[in-house]
Amino acid sequence: MSDTNAPRPQGFDTLAVHAGASPDPVTGAINPPIYQTTAYQFKDADHAARLFGLEEVGYIYSRLTNPTVAALVSRVAALEGAAGGIGCSSGHAAQIMALFPLMSPGKNVVASTRLYGGTITQFSQTIKRFGWSAKFVDTDDLGAVARAVDKNTRAIFAETIANPGGYITDIPALAKIAARKGVPLIIDNTTATPYLCKPMELGATIVVHSATKYLTGNGSVTGGIVLDSGKFDWSASDKFPSLSQPEPAYHGLTFHPALGAMAYTFHSIAIGLRDLGMTMNPQGAHYTLMGIETLGLRMERHVANAKKVAEWLEADPRIDFVTWAGLKSSPSNKRAKKIVPKGAGALFTFALKDGYDACVGMIKNLQLFRHVANLGDTRSLVIHPASTTHRQLSDEQKIKAGAAPNVVRVSIGIEDAEDIIADLDQALTAATGKTR
Ligand SMILES: *Cc1c(COP(=O)(O)O)cnc(C)c1O
Repeated sequence: MSDTNAPRPQGFDTLAVHAGASPDPVTGAINPPIYQTTAYQFKDADHAARLFGLEEVGYIYSRLTNPTVAALVSRVAALEGAAGGIGCSSGHAAQIMALFPLMSPGKNVVASTRLYGGTITQFSQTIKRFGWSAKFVDTDDLGAVARAVDKNTRAIFAETIANPGGYITDIPALAKIAARKGVPLIIDNTTATPYLCKPMELGATIVVHSATKYLTGNGSVTGGIVLDSGKFDWSASDKFPSLSQPEPAYHGLTFHPALGAMAYTFHSIAIGLRDLGMTMNPQGAHYTLMGIETLGLRMERHVANAKKVAEWLEADPRIDFVTWAGLKSSPSNKRAKKIVPKGAGALFTFALKDGYDACVGMIKNLQLFRHVANLGDTRSLVIHPASTTHRQLSDEQKIKAGAAPNVVRVSIGIEDAEDIIADLDQALTAATGKTR
């Protein structure tokens, strides 16, 4: 068959609406049903044995897999260009699950210094209880990244668009180092979504998501997803014995040769979800499936609004600086054009010339913006890191983290840009006593 007979690849928005789901064969229902069930009846004893032996793929118990969750995971896999993946109970659960097949006591992950605050805590504190550790490096210093990867390193971890500072990660450069060192690159693509960036096309092996944010899109769900490109050769070294050698936790099955491109996914299900139980629930998966249908439309509006708001703020005499990477003034602007050509996301910070009290005053006076510790909602959201998420840090640490006392973080929603700007304008006037 010649290439011209190959099926035409479908576009992003078509996949977002259709991938992973087809009308229910029994009822014709076009939305994937919410399979609110714990267990699935086996056809007979042989069938049960084949399922448990991973000789046949099917449903056993919803801690492992569930059809509604599976529909969601295959949809996001289609959007990201992944071979497989799993649904998890939260973004943070997804991060632990992403590391789980790779790590063991004494092993480390080389992580970017610019990560979601909760991830910094999870990696610097909590994973130590498993005997794992993280080495934080500035991912703009590629020499430092390469030097940090030692014989116990099992992954490199970074975010596409890192908050709060609107920083864009050079994914292809990190992928090159990871490939040279024989470890996978894990990218948290939560703030970009596959609409703005497909990390696997840039060389990432694993992608994690907090589905809580843009994938669901409306602040109704806590969920996470791990995806694997299926392209990493787990057997190329002795670094990943859980995948390349007989796994004692699964009656000696050797996952990589046995399951090929699906080895990491099946390990994550058969051992990770089975024993850690950080499973996504079908109701949450349903909401996220509904949200993803409009992901492209929403992201288009999110970034268009972010551009208008960031440009308006930058021209305002009451504002010190704005960090949106889509602005020409941003040090990340050139990289943004390469990594997120459709737009630099909708999450950024800006600083008020009048300092801490003016920030607090502005937030008090905002009416449209919701004051919450979340991002990626249809609504515009605001938070003042210095008095909330970064409260514990010294002023020096706050400045280093991009959360100086005069900085506020916004997640720009999909309302009318004129209304978002009008709200900021009146709140700035109320807080500073100055008009534009
Ligand atoms: C929110 C978030 C997480 C954690 O996800 P939860 O669903 O809240 O557990 C991880 N990474 C990034 C970039 C996030 O924004």
